[in-house]
Amino acid sequence: MAIVVDPGDGTDLLKVQEILRRHGLSVQAIVITHAHIDHIGGAAKLKAATGAPVYMNSNDMGLYDHLDMQAGWLGMPAPAKTEIDCAAREGDTLRLGETDFHVLDTPGHTQGSVCLYIPELDTLVAGDTLFRDSIGRTDLPGGDSRKILSSIHHKLLVLPEETAVICGHGSSTTIGREKELNPWL
Ligand SMILES: [Zn+2]
Repeated sequence: MAIVVDPGDGTDLLKVQEILRRHGLSVQAIVITHAHIDHIGGAAKLKAATGAPVYMNSNDMGLYDHLDMQAGWLGMPAPAKTEIDCAAREGDTLRLGETDFHVLDTPGHTQGSVCLYIPELDTLVAGDTLFRDSIGRTDLPGGDSRKILSSIHHKLLVLPEETAVICGHGSSTTIGREKELNPWL
């Protein structure tokens, strides 16, 4: 069983499907950290292929409604859209086997941005909220620079320092490293 986070469309989706095939995994849930096209563009196709429900915070529905506009900004065709099956909310837990994935509400990069904290694995899936040496941009519609800093300080930097952070783009890091070295914090 697997939880897929943020399937993009095109080659991103092909890579995800190749990994699922190679390991013989069935998809239990598709979790969207936020409704930017590079994080949600493959959700409809992956859901059609697997039957897995799509989780997203409802505060990003407005952004998802304008997926065609996001595609237009990037000069690409708009990907297929799907129903959002489950609202991902602060305090929600998805269970995969013996492992719990906790939803953390972390608005700022978008209004409905969430992160997933997996204590058993000492791992945070940070979407586009926290990066190695950087934070998510807040100049796109729904972005809020004050909120993203509040989310990072109150929800992420309070996690154990050894927590591995898987970022939506670029290299992974740890909470401790970003606390010490991230120039934006
Ligand atoms: Zn984004």
